[in-house]
Amino acid sequence: MAGNLTIDALLTEGVNRLQGAGNRTADDVSTHTLDTELLLAHILGKNRTYLKAHPEQTPTPEQARRYTAFIDRRAAGEPVAYIVGYRDFWTLRLAVNPAVLVPRPETELLVERALALGPAGPASVADLGTGSGAIALALASERPQWSVTAVDISANALSIARENAATLGLTRVEFLKGAWFVPLRNRQFDVIASNPPYVSETDTALKGATLQHEPQIALASGPDGLSAIREIVSAAPDHLKRHGWLLLEHGSDQATEVAHELVARGFGHVRSHRDLAGHWRLTEAQWVAPHEDTLK
Ligand code: GLN
Repeated sequence: MAGNLTIDALLTEGVNRLQGAGNRTADDVSTHTLDTELLLAHILGKNRTYLKAHPEQTPTPEQARRYTAFIDRRAAGEPVAYIVGYRDFWTLRLAVNPAVLVPRPETELLVERALALGPAGPASVADLGTGSGAIALALASERPQWSVTAVDISANALSIARENAATLGLTRVEFLKGAWFVPLRNRQFDVIASNPPYVSETDTALKGATLQHEPQIALASGPDGLSAIREIVSAAPDHLKRHGWLLLEHGSDQATEVAHELVARGFGHVRSHRDLAGHWRLTEAQWVAPHEDTLK
């Protein structure tokens, strides 16, 4: 790819280049057009609509060079979000870097369900393993009356999550460092939401073109991918108010097992939901049993 190409020509070349690098991962195939558009729009400082409206415009040679370098990185599997430094999630633009998982559209389902289940008025809400802050910040942006606490074990993740909170003016969100409930000792919430790691540590997808660029600590969780979820389910009742909700994202083949764990732990109203791709992606459950403290 060289200079003097129009926007339209650059996009076509980009798609061809990504197709040439193709069959690295099956799930990438449908995103070539979107990826090239996102990369070029970013370089031009415009949105994707602008590209459609001005296909004949000619970016500068320097812009074309940067675009080619971005396409090369994408062809090697690097997520677009890391290349441009952000990903749009819910209504928010979130800064991301390789310390955090790239927020995915299916996680918006978790936000939707938390908004639907949580109290209409003031409430306390925790997001475990917040990463870029996606869930916590989306909830805080929708419900100014909620007190949102975001937890992550990674200092690098927390620093990007805090940066996002500041950029978005969501300064009331509390950030705590630690594993799951460790920094939440003696605290109870109306809603606990988490998109924990849930991929089996033996899953070859972890070494695939895309996932290999993302933090393994945010993806892999024990032999069956359920270690983190089991840990959260087991401790959650100590941190939920009576009638509080736990919402967990999980793998598309894990809904039955996650529901089973929740029922066994004493949760009620256990219900799984499909994401927009039709995969069982989320299970919610309500803490209806009396608190264990009151039984002791
Ligand atoms: N949905 C991610 C993937 O399979 C996994 C995210 C996670 O483990 N929380 O690519």
